[in-house]
Amino acid sequence: MGLSFDPDRVSLSIGHFIGGELIAAEGAIEMRRPSDGNAYAAGPVAGADMVDRAVESAKAALKASNWGGVRPRERTRALQAWADLIEAEAETLARIEALCSTRPVGQLIAGDIAITAEQIRFFSEFADKEGSELVPTDDASLGMIMSEPYGVVGAITPWNFPISMAGWKLGPALAAGNAVVLKPSEMTPFSAVYMAELATRAGLPAGLVNVVLGDGPTTGTALTGHPDIAKVSFTGSTRAGSAIMENIARAGVKPMTLELGGKSPQIVFADADLDKTATAIAGSVTFNAGQACVAGTRLIVERSAADRLTAAILEKMKAARPGPTWDEATHYSPIISERQRARVDNIVRAAVEAGGECLTGGNFMDSPGYFYEPTLIANVDQANPAIIEEIFGPVLTVQTFETEEEALALASHPTYGLASGLFATDLSRTIRFARKLEAGTVWVNRYSRSRDHILPTGGYKRSGIGKDLGRDAYLANRRTKSVLISL
Ligand code: NAD
Repeated sequence: MGLSFDPDRVSLSIGHFIGGELIAAEGAIEMRRPSDGNAYAAGPVAGADMVDRAVESAKAALKASNWGGVRPRERTRALQAWADLIEAEAETLARIEALCSTRPVGQLIAGDIAITAEQIRFFSEFADKEGSELVPTDDASLGMIMSEPYGVVGAITPWNFPISMAGWKLGPALAAGNAVVLKPSEMTPFSAVYMAELATRAGLPAGLVNVVLGDGPTTGTALTGHPDIAKVSFTGSTRAGSAIMENIARAGVKPMTLELGGKSPQIVFADADLDKTATAIAGSVTFNAGQACVAGTRLIVERSAADRLTAAILEKMKAARPGPTWDEATHYSPIISERQRARVDNIVRAAVEAGGECLTGGNFMDSPGYFYEPTLIANVDQANPAIIEEIFGPVLTVQTFETEEEALALASHPTYGLASGLFATDLSRTIRFARKLEAGTVWVNRYSRSRDHILPTGGYKRSGIGKDLGRDAYLANRRTKSVLISL
């Protein structure tokens, strides 16, 4: 049996987590398991009152614990204890996640959960290493840039990697001395609730980590517009990012980090190792069934290598087999919901209508749950819906080029600039391209993150503002004050 489990026997804490306690609540959001479509819970929607209660609890916890003002090493130790507990409870956490989301249980313990625990440790180490600085002034004065936490950070996360996204927000905000009110996606909130329970059990002050459940328009709007939320950290679609900016502008002014959508190109030159390239490219659109912000969904290949590379990618795409996320043997994920699967299908159909040719896929899979075939579409121009839209499903397009200029022109997207891949062995060309690509990340001869958490992630263009991960994410959770002392 190993990690496989019976989905009907997983117990969930259903409710908000505020002040170190679960506030049991059910509501109107019908939640269905992506792997078989069965309903399993009715999610609540926190209104402005509940959000206010969470913010008050965060403020009270900061005051009572002096979290932002204790010896920084104490924050490091507390966060590391939390990371240790997350790892110790990995099986329980993995079951909750695999039940509700698209993440297969076999990928969670050594993947999402181990990485999240390590990222929390990584951020905890900044607490006593990054701080205020003395700066050069004339000798009649002393100049200082004083670094401080914000207070209460409001965080909002998407459904595609619920544990990882919660970790990206909570780790740096807490290490930097803030309290957090987190609103996870209404489709996958329960792993975040359990992570908050673990934070309290690990000894973090009650109320430092609060989780409110609900949707964007009600709960998200109340959170981002709350006057005592000093900073907003958001990951999700560009559409929701715009709505959040608008809401914040209406309610006042506050700093925000926005990690938004993508439509990332993968450019392949004929001198690349085509077998390894095919594995990386097929992997990037089949991993989590393409439901990754950085999924490399636009293959742009030098014409002389196109047939060989496309054939190798097709073979790998066709090998994907659906399976429930609670089966340890499953590699290929379902789509999160029936609605999202219909959206994927509609864009594929519109792409074909506009002249695209499906080389494989383009259909629902014959399986319970919301599975969609890995899909490869050729004959697409820059106006084709499969090129323009962030599909957020297992759909790859293929386009060819002959010159570097053509490759660059195809790679450029009118809206997005999140990530990009470059496969080539000519070093000078690689560096030339890395300089020219308009994206927050350029992966060369690979298409995945490593476990080097020091590399920040974030978008150019409408893929976002600011960075997650890296030193940048820690610093984005502190503000600075210039102090000038006349001697
Ligand atoms: P989404 O934008 O629909 O929802 C994300 C979160 O925002 C959810 O918690 C949702 O309830 C909330 N929300 C929606 N409207 C809101 C509003 N008006 N005010 C406040 N909160 C609101 O995105 P999704 O479908 O959950 O996730 C997929 C999207 O997330 C894709 O576009 C993907 O590229 C993006 N994403 C980006 C990154 C990154 O690092 N750039 C990482 C993961 C996912």
